[in-house]
Parts: sequence; C-alpha cells; structure tokens
Amino acid sequence: MVWRFRLRKLDYFSGANFEIQDNELSDRESTYGSPKRVLTQVSRIIRDTVASRKLKELYSYECQVCRTSIQTNAGLYIEAAHIQPLGTPHNGPDVISNILCLCPNHHVRFDYGGFTVSDTLELIGEKGRLFVHPKHALGQSFLAYHRAHRYDAGW
Ligand SMILES: [Zn+2]
Repeated sequence: MVWRFRLRKLDYFSGANFEIQDNELSDRESTYGSPKRVLTQVSRIIRDTVASRKLKELYSYECQVCRTSIQTNAGLYIEAAHIQPLGTPHNGPDVISNILCLCPNHHVRFDYGGFTVSDTLELIGEKGRLFVHPKHALGQSFLAYHRAHRYDAGW
C-alpha cells in the first residue's frame, strides 16, 4: 500500500487573519469562531514511563525543589525531568537515577539552565538544597552532565 499526501497552504496560517494597529495585536472580528484543526502525526519519546511513575509516587507528587504538589481534578500533578535529556544529541537514559520530580516551573527552569545541582545536592542558580528521598539514588554523572551542558552552556 502506498500513502500519498498533498501539501496545501491554509489561509489560517498566512497571516491574513491578523492585523497590528497602534502596537496592539488584535483579531479581525470576522475571524472569531472555532480554531481550525489540522491533523498531524508526530514521533516523540514516550516520557511517562514506569520509571517516572514510580518516582512520582515515591515523592508523593511533590517537587524536589519547592516541595509543592499541584492538585487538579485529575489528581495530583508533577513532572518527571530528565537530568541528562532524552533524545538527540544528549541521549540520556530513562532510568530513575536520571530523573527528578519537579513542578512545571522548576522543570522549565531546569531544562533551560536556570538552575542546576551540585555534587552535594546544593542548588546552583536557585536558593536551597535538592530534596532527595533515601530510596532515590541519583546519578552523579548525570548531574555533572547537566552542569556542563545545560547550566554552564549558557543560552
Ligand atoms: Zn518546584
């Protein structure tokens, strides 16, 4: 079986539905309504793995930096942050020793080099110390990788 596709430019993305007046971005009223949807297919690394789920439960869904947990209608929410990122070019492993439980704010700051963690678990670029559960063996080499490639690298 052969799949064929045709690329077609949609007006929605052409910029014709937007205008800038007096330094203010606004919609033309005629464009109000439901957003148009485009069916896409992406290939991405599955991040909600058994390892990350076990770690979230170990920390009772609390951030290892600020110790907050986020209550939602779907239950408690926390994110699994890979210290040495998954995927190219970092190719970090999806193992518990390479994962931190972080709230969304600290996850973003960590991923973009806003702060990092020393060998003695002191936070660098953030006040305080990383909380680490006694059953959570962190990989020192992953922390060193983060310091060298995410924090010291600059953005
Ligand atoms: Zn946090």
